[in-house]
Amino acid sequence: MSNSEQLFAEAREVMPGGVNSPVRAFGSVGGIPPFMVGAKGAYLTDADGKEYVDLVCSWGPALLGHSHPEIQAAVHAAVDRGLSFGASTPDEAKLGQLIKSRMGGVDRVRMVSTGTEATMTAVRLARGYTGRDLIIKFSGCYHGHLDGLLADAGSGLATLALPGSAGVTAATAAETLVLPYNDRTAIEAAFAEHGANIAAVITESAPCNMGVVTPEEGFNKFLKETTAKHGALLIVDEVLTGFRASSSGYWGLTGKVEGWTADLYTFGKVIGGGLPTAALGGRADVMDYLAPLGPVYQAGTLSGNPVAMAAGIAQLSNATEEVYAHLTKQSDALQAAITEAFNAEGLNHSIQRAGTLFSVAFGTAENGVHNYADAQAQEVFRYAPFFHSMLDSGVYLPPSVFEAWFVSAAHDDAAMEKIFAALPAAAKAAAEAKA
Ligand SMILES: *Cc1c(COP(=O)(O)O)cnc(C)c1O
Repeated sequence: MSNSEQLFAEAREVMPGGVNSPVRAFGSVGGIPPFMVGAKGAYLTDADGKEYVDLVCSWGPALLGHSHPEIQAAVHAAVDRGLSFGASTPDEAKLGQLIKSRMGGVDRVRMVSTGTEATMTAVRLARGYTGRDLIIKFSGCYHGHLDGLLADAGSGLATLALPGSAGVTAATAAETLVLPYNDRTAIEAAFAEHGANIAAVITESAPCNMGVVTPEEGFNKFLKETTAKHGALLIVDEVLTGFRASSSGYWGLTGKVEGWTADLYTFGKVIGGGLPTAALGGRADVMDYLAPLGPVYQAGTLSGNPVAMAAGIAQLSNATEEVYAHLTKQSDALQAAITEAFNAEGLNHSIQRAGTLFSVAFGTAENGVHNYADAQAQEVFRYAPFFHSMLDSGVYLPPSVFEAWFVSAAHDDAAMEKIFAALPAAAKAAAEAKA
């Protein structure tokens, strides 16, 4: 029995499914998840001493590579000053300023601990500000596990193929309208029917939790114009894409170019540098509806935690344009290598991209993936053998076809070569897979 098998068996005795977040259990690819004991640069080391090139990067936070020396040093220094003060600290506004300086339309920032908290607060704030109840979300978009947004969500729910979640009341579900992504007609129809009671549209800046889906050109701008016309707010969820798709998130590739801003944004993943921090930000008049200035309540014992703030400041300070240029270069090179390996096997596929982020989709060459229905119609069965072949060769991919791939500043040419070398055998395994 390997150490990971032993650890997984022990974990299952104390935690449901042996995990604290479902995708880690390898439900959609099968097998025993390697338990990780170390991470440095582009590499993870498991409990059996095996090393992997990591293409998950903690689902985004390891933007600069694992255990980046400046983040580690900032965290160590913060730890020495004290772990948590239950009072305001100087670094909170500093991280807020770093976020504000890179985004359009972020006048104010509030720190929270998880992306789920950020979207939950954004939704409450939108309802409080507009005095309306309904929220529009898109099929396949994941915004964390708050009740009202679990309907037709991606991420672990896409993998587990659950329609939503047990435990969400019918009354709560009825306050969310779920529409197909990239479908302007459906949005116009929803506003025509319910416009006076729609508080907000929430969307991933570019969906990355049903695999990556590129918003059609002008789609986010259309959302901004439509919400504005009807007195609703646009919440752009950049928890995954923020400071990852580009230096100013996916907004940097759309809103910044097209000249619009969201009313509210949510951030997470990258901004904590690997520690639990997330944030919401946006228009001053909307954000000032939050307590203590306004009537919308929100709070957090560990919000703006000083150790997490230090990590986030070190992360964003070191996330320079050179870093994003490197991510783009390595992401492009990896996409080209995948295409070559898949084409050599005659494997029908498309590569879906959003800035430096991408994912592969099998059997979708003709039309690509534009929404959740397309994502679910792909040849999902090809991913597990592909994934396990890569894993055997020492490459750690997201354990679901419905997740994005992440490179980091530490993915140098040696790490890339290791991935390239693993691709031909994995492509063959995918090509030979049977439904
Ligand atoms: C990860 C994610 C969340 C939830 O963040 P947690 O920190 O896991 O709660 C919300 N929205 C998007 C787009 C995400 O990718």
